[in-house]
Amino acid sequence: MSQGTNGAVQQRKRILIVEDEPDIVRGLTDALEFEGFEVVSTGQGREGVRMARDRGADCVILDLMLPDINGYQVCEEIRAANPVLPIIILTARGQESDKIRGLEVGADDYVTKPFSVGELLARIKAIFRRLHKVPAIHDEVIRIGACEVDVKKHTLTRSRKTQPLTFYEVELIKLLAERVDQPVSRDEILDKIWGIDAHPTNRTVDNFIVKLRKKLEEDHKIPQHILTVYGFGYKLVR
Ligand code: CA
Repeated sequence: MSQGTNGAVQQRKRILIVEDEPDIVRGLTDALEFEGFEVVSTGQGREGVRMARDRGADCVILDLMLPDINGYQVCEEIRAANPVLPIIILTARGQESDKIRGLEVGADDYVTKPFSVGELLARIKAIFRRLHKVPAIHDEVIRIGACEVDVKKHTLTRSRKTQPLTFYEVELIKLLAERVDQPVSRDEILDKIWGIDAHPTNRTVDNFIVKLRKKLEEDHKIPQHILTVYGFGYKLVR
């Protein structure tokens, strides 16, 4: 979407905000437009799903507490239609279970309310930066144990069952696969996947690993392929 005709003019990236608090929508819209993004917004979950489908968006900022349907459902429905569209959820402070559930339904990242606009902007920019990097792994399919990960289609197939992977999950698998059998530190994962000026925490990495193991491992409690290197990070064993 960002590629203009002949690469001459970059089309502005469109951010969809699904949030029912007018002050937050106003503040975010101003800041994002100032940064050159096109912004569309709605305070209703169903309308958000419809807008993502009909009008298209390059990134969705999604509140969890909406008046009609909750943000998890919105996230699932958007994700079902578009496995790679980046979705950042807004959660209330301290609701750790919200974050984990949000990641489980396919969100790529989360920001805790009250948040700074600068932090959210950094997350959005990090996502776009990663989207436009040339992948270092050129294989279309990465085999891990009994799984096949299709890095172009963003899918994982095991036992003939195919499920979608999010953008960050594919990036994580690619990074770990490039360095198969070698430990990769949490800091490096944070830097390469989320970008150094985004401010996710080591917990973000751990949450993604938990989620990825559930998809990839036969028994995610006894991982055979994404192994923890205690006090350091993770390594992939095929
Ligand atoms: Ca709300």
